[in-house]
Amino acid sequence: MGQRSVSLAQLLGFDGWVVEEAFFESELGVHVVATGRYALLRGTRLVLRVRCRWRPRCSGCGSACDAVHELGTTRRWRDLPWSTHPVLIEYAPRRLKCRLCAAHLVELVAWAEARQTTTRRLQHQLAIECAAAPISQVAARHGLPWSTVRRAEGHAIARWERSLPPTAPLRQVGLDEKYLGRRNRLAEKFVTIVSNLETGEPIWIGAGRSKETVRRWLDALTPEQKKAIDLFAMDMYAAFYVAIDETPGLEHVAITHDPFHVMKRVGEAVDDARRAIFFRSGPEQRAIGRGRRWLLLRAWERNTAEQKADLRWLLAQNGKLARLYQLKEETRALLRDAVDGDAMLHGLERVLRRTRRTTLNAVRRLGESLEHHADAIVAYAEWRPPTGRIEALNNNWEALVRRGRGYRDHEYLRRKLRFVIANPLKTPGGLRTFVDLGQQVPRAA
Ligand SMILES: [Zn+2]
Repeated sequence: MGQRSVSLAQLLGFDGWVVEEAFFESELGVHVVATGRYALLRGTRLVLRVRCRWRPRCSGCGSACDAVHELGTTRRWRDLPWSTHPVLIEYAPRRLKCRLCAAHLVELVAWAEARQTTTRRLQHQLAIECAAAPISQVAARHGLPWSTVRRAEGHAIARWERSLPPTAPLRQVGLDEKYLGRRNRLAEKFVTIVSNLETGEPIWIGAGRSKETVRRWLDALTPEQKKAIDLFAMDMYAAFYVAIDETPGLEHVAITHDPFHVMKRVGEAVDDARRAIFFRSGPEQRAIGRGRRWLLLRAWERNTAEQKADLRWLLAQNGKLARLYQLKEETRALLRDAVDGDAMLHGLERVLRRTRRTTLNAVRRLGESLEHHADAIVAYAEWRPPTGRIEALNNNWEALVRRGRGYRDHEYLRRKLRFVIANPLKTPGGLRTFVDLGQQVPRAA
């Protein structure tokens, strides 16, 4: 081999493969020859016609196999770009008579898996880009169809999934309803997400938030899987409760309401009260209440000094609101600090007594709701499931849904959500490992 051929083979980077011919081609597939003017090559793609120097290997078992059954047709694979040029690898894989597989199987190529049109290393590059940008943007950047990028991302994520250790049995389950956002035009505006509280990973996503939605998942569990479940942490939402209650094999599970969902209810009551107090009593009062929603909902210690001053002033305007705000902060502290079921029960009774004393309807309703769900709130203090990871799931969900793709394919949404939550790309080391996954040449497909 001449020095040029050696360099090209080294850049291609697959043992046993050489570049026989490298040429530029226009988007229409016409050879472009730059005679002294490299500007002519702008916008062209680089085609690498390769050849296998070693004995061909069977894609079924990976063993070397000399018996060629038939010559294949020429195929092309999209690879990582070189400089400004998209790169296509061109090769005609042969069909082999494999004795071990006792079949006629296509030859293994080093850069891609069977029936795929993008190389493994490009798939991993695209998946990295898709973790930070919408697929449409990544597709435009690479000049690839949207569907190709989406499939490539799926293959890379699947390779990552196969590299993970087997998952432990599901013991603590998070059950959550999620809004799909205003922009989507689906008949069903909500989905239900089932997650593993111990790892924070989404397990299942289904359309709707009804009892039937949850039953679809529960009914698919084996008796062993049901037995392994200790508890559910979920929204204070009757449909979920009924679904678990009516499913045979789950009589032993504890149902808990985690602080996130309890505080969501408390926050709703605070917001209803804010509107009832300020918005029905003239423009002056309305001006006081307007734009201060988050001031009231945010935890006190998360406000800046300026916000705290504003909040103190707001609460001084209305005694009822001040007492309700205090109730909110006490409930937050109770959920955080109650050391066991007894402490939670006593604290909850204190909160309930105060909700009964108020004349605000929103707070009364909140009290009734908390009383109705007291068992599950007390059970939370007894079990203390690690619900912190669910916050990461919630944040990533928001980011994915805001980007606005993949609503219809729930399995895709779940896998992508799992990928961004585990975030193998977050550290330089993790990113390196993920890139390496796309460069391994497997023994067999
Ligand atoms: Zn074989």
